[in-house]
Amino acid sequence: MYSYKDIDQLHTDLKNKKVTCTSLVQQYIQKIKSQKDNPIFLEVFEKSALEQSQKIDEEIAQGKFRPLSGLVVSIKDNLCYKGHTCTAASKILQNFVSTYTSTAVQRLIDAGAIIIGRTNCDEFAMGSSNENSAYGAVKNPLNNEYVPGGSSGGSAASLAAELCMASLGSDTGGSVRQPASFCGVVGLKSTYGRISRWGLIAYASSFDQIGIFTYNISDAAKILSVIAGADNFDATCAEIPVPDYVNEYKSIKQQKFKIAYFPEVIESEGLNIEIKKSIENTIEQLKANGHIVEPVQFSLLKYLIPVYYVLTTAEASSNLSRYDGVRYGYRYKEAQTLEEMYKKTRSIGFGTEVKRRILLGTFVLSVGYYDAYYTKAQKVRRILYNTIKDIFKKYDAILMPTTPSTAFKIGQKTDDPLKLYLEDIYTVLANMVGIPAISIPAGKSKENGLPYGIQILTDSFQESKLFAISDKILELNQHK
Ligand code: GLN
Repeated sequence: MYSYKDIDQLHTDLKNKKVTCTSLVQQYIQKIKSQKDNPIFLEVFEKSALEQSQKIDEEIAQGKFRPLSGLVVSIKDNLCYKGHTCTAASKILQNFVSTYTSTAVQRLIDAGAIIIGRTNCDEFAMGSSNENSAYGAVKNPLNNEYVPGGSSGGSAASLAAELCMASLGSDTGGSVRQPASFCGVVGLKSTYGRISRWGLIAYASSFDQIGIFTYNISDAAKILSVIAGADNFDATCAEIPVPDYVNEYKSIKQQKFKIAYFPEVIESEGLNIEIKKSIENTIEQLKANGHIVEPVQFSLLKYLIPVYYVLTTAEASSNLSRYDGVRYGYRYKEAQTLEEMYKKTRSIGFGTEVKRRILLGTFVLSVGYYDAYYTKAQKVRRILYNTIKDIFKKYDAILMPTTPSTAFKIGQKTDDPLKLYLEDIYTVLANMVGIPAISIPAGKSKENGLPYGIQILTDSFQESKLFAISDKILELNQHK
């Protein structure tokens, strides 16, 4: 069994005829099918994946290579792919078949990638453990008693279990970076507006970004170069030209950077001691390597979670109103009246967490409370934005933990939603401000043997800097 973790290696082997795309895809399909007791994949796209791989093999036989030829990719179950089922891990979309393909997925296909299947996630991307899926909780492949993180838990697990070479997820408040941290892989959320959201099932539209899971920085940079860039179907997608990220980050990698960290974050109560030590080590390593790493005052930590959950639930309550049994998916058929049909469809179709958030969001948007919650939270979002933008006037990047701890046990936090919300404390900032952020593997806990990540954030559209600094840190980590 070949298991590739690097596009360059794959391309070398394809060129040397050591492997064909078709044999590779067949092997991955077999391996996915053998995962019987872990619902990482909700569906394998066997037919279309094999059609794609045959086509790519024919091209390669003629010496034609595209940027991602033969790259086997899984996609989160909230990305539309024409003719394929897409459910957002919800009962309400159980039989929904996409009528068009999301821009990011289309660009992957056009670049030669092969879409192997759709991965499990928290329902409508709401969650941090993948336990909110209507189709069963994903287990962390590194230890089956633990969660893989969420909401893109299946995507992260699909890499940790070596069932594909890369995955697309979505990140509204950490859903790519947190599972990447829990599964020991790289997880990137790009700048808001860098990747088109066309065909991504909306959760909180001013926060949502499609994200990328890979085993290394260079693959993330390659994939981003392919899927980023303006799109006529998404007005929030920036017109800013897309560089060749690999060339660009490699060309600046030897520069010395100015990096900030927040003592308030590193000293925060809930942060696991091993993760704290690892951050401190990284700071020391970077300094020893000639970078400037300095503490910066940040007093807004305690507002992050409340503001995030006021704003995202508000947007979700509006976005999810479209699932009413009339237009998409599930409908309660025995209803006597239209109102009963709406009520029953939504009560049966949505899971508990999604309903909780729709209720919360409806509440904060209601006439009597709008100003007290929604308007106030928007004001705090602006203050946060200004604060972070000021920091980037002086610094290239911010260094943070990705998560307060390593993965937790399945079931451990299910009866306390607040505990689960606190998981997102370090990741929501990037979405609130719209800046790019990445989680890279930083170490393994001595306590439970599970991995944890470290997070790097840069100013908007500075993904090359993000990659350069990440690669540097990974390199320093290896030589420790
Ligand atoms: N855990 C966060 C939430 O439940 C993040 C979700 C996400 O990024 N999609 O909202």
